[in-house]
Amino acid sequence: MIEELLKQTIRTIPNFPKEGIMFKDITTLLNNPSAFKQLIDFLYERYKDKNIDYVAGIESRGFIFGSALAYALNAGFVPIRKKGKLPYKTVSKRYELEYGYDEIEIHVDAFRPNSNVLLIDDLIATGGTAAAAVELIKEVGANVVEACFIIELTCLNGRDKINAEVFSILKTE
Ligand code: AMP
Repeated sequence: MIEELLKQTIRTIPNFPKEGIMFKDITTLLNNPSAFKQLIDFLYERYKDKNIDYVAGIESRGFIFGSALAYALNAGFVPIRKKGKLPYKTVSKRYELEYGYDEIEIHVDAFRPNSNVLLIDDLIATGGTAAAAVELIKEVGANVVEACFIIELTCLNGRDKINAEVFSILKTE
């Protein structure tokens, strides 16, 4: 079962990057060829008939899953990046963090008009990042088919912030 595989291959590092955070480290999944392939194959099966034109990945771990999945789906890949990294015209969104703010951006011409987009990131916690990403995709004229996460920290109710369908594989407290 895919959840079992994720449980076995993703490790938790306590107090990284700061005290009190249980950091979900996906590098131990990525360096396992069989696990990485099984995960991408699972996501491919879920989305292959959904007419996905683009997979949009959130910097930076969303790029890894997103680009592998885009390749499998024969879809384009679009990066959603931290402010100041994208070279062309962008739209941006500021969102609240636990302490302070962050800002993400997308190129204004990232998608053809009315495209179907799958948003992906490794993990949803408070949902602030993904909620901002969904707004950006809509702002540049595309439809969000679903927001997909490998891991969901359910106790934070992040999915309630997302203005789109939400799917996650491994649900944990
Ligand atoms: P949030 O906006 O609170 O949903 O945070 C989601 C973003 O922060 C994602 O891009 C995650 O990669 C990262 N993140 C938040 N919490 C964790 C965690 N416990 N372990 C690993 N990554 C995390």
